[in-house]
Amino acid sequence: MELDNKINQLRSETPGCKALIHFNNAGCSFASAAVTDSVIGHLQLEQLAGGYEAANQASAQIDNFYHAFARLLNCKANEIAFIENATRAWDMAFYAVPFQPGDQVITGQAEYASNYLAMLQLQKRKGIELVVVPNDASGTLCLDTLRKRINQKTRLIALTQIPSQVGTVQPAEAVGNIAREHGLLYLLDACQSAGQIPLDVQALHCDLLTGTGRKYLRGPRGTGFLYVGNSVLDKLEPPFIDLHSAHWVDAHSYRFRDDAKRFENWECFVAGKIGLGVAADYACEVGLDGIRKRIGELAGSLVDRLAEVPGVTVHEQRDNLSGIVTFSKADEDATQLHQRLRAAGINTSIAKQANALLDAAARHVGDVNRASLHYFNTGDEIERFIEILRDGRKD
Ligand SMILES: *Cc1c(COP(=O)(O)O)cnc(C)c1O
Repeated sequence: MELDNKINQLRSETPGCKALIHFNNAGCSFASAAVTDSVIGHLQLEQLAGGYEAANQASAQIDNFYHAFARLLNCKANEIAFIENATRAWDMAFYAVPFQPGDQVITGQAEYASNYLAMLQLQKRKGIELVVVPNDASGTLCLDTLRKRINQKTRLIALTQIPSQVGTVQPAEAVGNIAREHGLLYLLDACQSAGQIPLDVQALHCDLLTGTGRKYLRGPRGTGFLYVGNSVLDKLEPPFIDLHSAHWVDAHSYRFRDDAKRFENWECFVAGKIGLGVAADYACEVGLDGIRKRIGELAGSLVDRLAEVPGVTVHEQRDNLSGIVTFSKADEDATQLHQRLRAAGINTSIAKQANALLDAAARHVGDVNRASLHYFNTGDEIERFIEILRDGRKD
């Protein structure tokens, strides 16, 4: 059945939809009832049975997390790690690369702020060299420049697939092909794309992929994941270690586990891990092809309607739209508009220039408003949003 025909049912499984128009899915989406119930259910079991005993009883649901993500990403269950958020997942991968002074890391101009900060830190600590490949006129990473910048010193390509500050989908698969041709490690930040578009690590040719629970996957807050391809596992030494990630061999040595769990902590938010597995299953059941199609149609119509509002500039180009649409309104500052929408029952967010210095600052757009749509949003909600947006016009 077409996803459009299931929207009423999916909205009824999304209690948050009843009272609010939620266009902040890139910040934190609404969890489905199934996800929240699974988290609460496990917390209650912990309360009654004891945390360790509850984990034993729920071992199948905990284990489901790995299988759900193997299905979502088309990989093996032993290539998945549970991490508390996407930033730490990315850090665990990035700081595990055995960089030598002079090694080069290539990234894009819309790389996520925290990722770029980590690169700056290793530039300072280890003397790695950073190369930022700019976007071309279409708003996507210039593949020709990328090819030209690769040399003997290149160790890693790190790309954000859908940047949070501008929703243009980056050519992650084409970048993966280039990385593969040159035998380079490829770390993909799929934080905004997981749950929004189909992801297949085999087709993407990525070695490492990171994401968070609370955004387009509609999972619990405080959850994230890391995919580490088995073929690169032994080239990476996790920056931190514990009695879960490694085996204590004797007084002089240890051995890391031989799966992606070598990047995990022993202690974690078990209820959240169960809930994130439920969220990944839910996304797969709804169907990622249908999700992408519906979000694309909604975003296209939002961009069309925004273009009709006097004084509004949309910052994405029409091609490669995702559910993330950023815009500015000439007569209303971003914070003011955000608050006015909030008061009218519409959740949006602000993408701050301070978190996008290579990108928003280069584009001279300043802080911008961000409406991020999910499949459970509707055309009626877009109309209501446009109506409120027009209401504030001072003319
Ligand atoms: C939100 C976001 C992150 C960070 O995710 P956390 O779970 O908050 O650590 C990383 N990359 C992108 C592109 C994001 O949008």
